[in-house]
Parts: sequence; C-alpha cells; structure tokens
Amino acid sequence: MAGEESRSVSLFQSAREVIPGGVNSPVRAFNAVGGTPPFIASGKGSRITDVDGREYIDYVGSYGPLLFGHAPDFIVDAITRVAQDGTCFGAPTALETDLARMVREAFPAMEMVRFVNSGGEATSSAVRLARGVTGRRKIVKCAGCYHGSVDSLMVKAGSGVVTLGLPDTAGVTDGVASDTIVVEFNDVEALELVFRKWGNEIAALILEPIVGNMGLVPPLPGYLECCRRLTASNDALLILDEVMTGFRVARGGAQEIFGIKPDLVCLGKIVGGGTPVGAFGGKREIMELLAPAGSVYQA
Ligand code: PLP
Repeated sequence: MAGEESRSVSLFQSAREVIPGGVNSPVRAFNAVGGTPPFIASGKGSRITDVDGREYIDYVGSYGPLLFGHAPDFIVDAITRVAQDGTCFGAPTALETDLARMVREAFPAMEMVRFVNSGGEATSSAVRLARGVTGRRKIVKCAGCYHGSVDSLMVKAGSGVVTLGLPDTAGVTDGVASDTIVVEFNDVEALELVFRKWGNEIAALILEPIVGNMGLVPPLPGYLECCRRLTASNDALLILDEVMTGFRVARGGAQEIFGIKPDLVCLGKIVGGGTPVGAFGGKREIMELLAPAGSVYQA
C-alpha cells in the first residue's frame, strides 16, 4: 500500500521472528512471485479477504483440497458438531470407520484404509509399507512429481534418462537418495530399462497419475497401463499418489478415469474437507501387514 505499511507487511516481519522465513511451508513465502504474502483474515466460497481488507477471487484454493470453496456451511457445521464432543482421544472412534468406508466406496482399490495427518505422511507410509511387504529397497519415482516432504522422495534426477537419485535438499543423505530411481514421466522406454536393470530390487513405483506439480501433465495413452504391467510382472507395487487428483478429476480420482487398479493409493486433505488429514490404502493383504495386524510399523 503506497505511503503506509500494510498489516500484511508488519505481520510478515513479526512472523519471521518466530517462524523460519515467516511461513510454515516455503511456497507461502511468495519467493517465486515476489512481494510480501498477503496474510489472510477469512475466506468464504471463492473469495478470500486479507488483513488489510482487500478481497480476492481465490484461484489457489489452498493448492487443491478446497473443492467446495472456503468455509462451506455444511463442512463448518460438521466440524463444529464434532468438535463439541472433543477432537482427540488416543482411542478409536466410530467416525473413523465411517470415513474409511466412504473413502473405499469412492476408491474401490482402497480395500483397507489408514488415516494419517497429511499427504506426505500418506506417501511416506506407503513407501515404508511397500518396502516392508516386498523386502526390497529401491523406489522408482518420476522427475517433476512431488509427494510431500518425504526424505526418499525429495530426490532429483541426475543428467541421464534414468538415474539413481541425488538429494534435492540438505538433510537428505546420499544413501537415502541412492535407493530412489528417477525416470521421466511418460517415458515408457526409461521405465522398461529400469525394470530390466533393477526389477528384483524395486519395492514400488510411485507417481501422480496426472501430474499437477510440473504444470499439468496428463499421462500419454498407455503409460499408466505400462506402469501397472511392469510393476505387476516384477512383483513391485504400484502406488498412485492421488493427493491432488483424488475426488477432483473424478470422484474416484485418475484411476477411475484411466481404469488402473493400483496396489496402494495416497490421498490428502480432501478427505478431511480441507483439514489436515491424509489417507493411504490398498489391497487387503498388503494393508494387513501394517502394525498392529502386521510387522510394518506405522502410527
Ligand atoms: N502428493 C502430492 C501430489 C502433492 O501435491 C502434495 C502436496 O502438495 C503432497 C503429496 C504432500 O501433501 P501434504 O502437503 O499434505 O503433506
């Protein structure tokens, strides 16, 4: 605001004293687009209002999960009703089973579901489960697919068509990154090469079935089928990360549109109506290997 300091600017300065970079996720700092991020006071439907009283049409939608816009009455009512009975017990509740059944109804591949707190927790848990089930170390991911702040998936490609990963951030060791193989999305030949070379070491292939994290890249005809065929024939798992596509491109996600049945599926905040909830699920015989039923710890 010309001539006077906006409240967003002073709130950002104040935030930076107690929160690294003033934000709890890097993209919110607006580094890529410049300027000070507006601090949001409220949102309703398609509009948000910042602390300086400016109203915006919100094309961000919290990066995807707000399918019904901001604060829709039916979600606010449901949260209010449930919160009045308490929010956290350290013991099971019937609502968890109800929600698991609803998720399974939309995603038949998720024969069993486990809830977590975020999309990244869903993908990291799915990767651990895949490694536990197969007894193998390597994970294949596609360059440009983002799966959350997960060590083994925060890995960038080297210069070749197929590479063992390099750490994408300080704090991830070469050892962790080297168990991740990176291929280009939509490159069938690269995938065939990877499975020829490391087929019996690969625990899983994880990908966004329609990539929303490098622009919007749909799969070429036959690509997802190739992912399914190569994982199945090498006894590796296919993990579809539908954190961004689930309940959006179709109720049952991209897997419904393309008719692909993965072994494991990951979902994010959309299953919590925009609150911090995630879920992963898949074949019963795989999911039953999770603790306490099985030996792969996840909590
Ligand atoms: N998977 C995909 C495809 C995502 O786009 C994201 C977040 O943007 C994640 C996983 C991580 O989800 P969360 O931020 O809830 O950890």
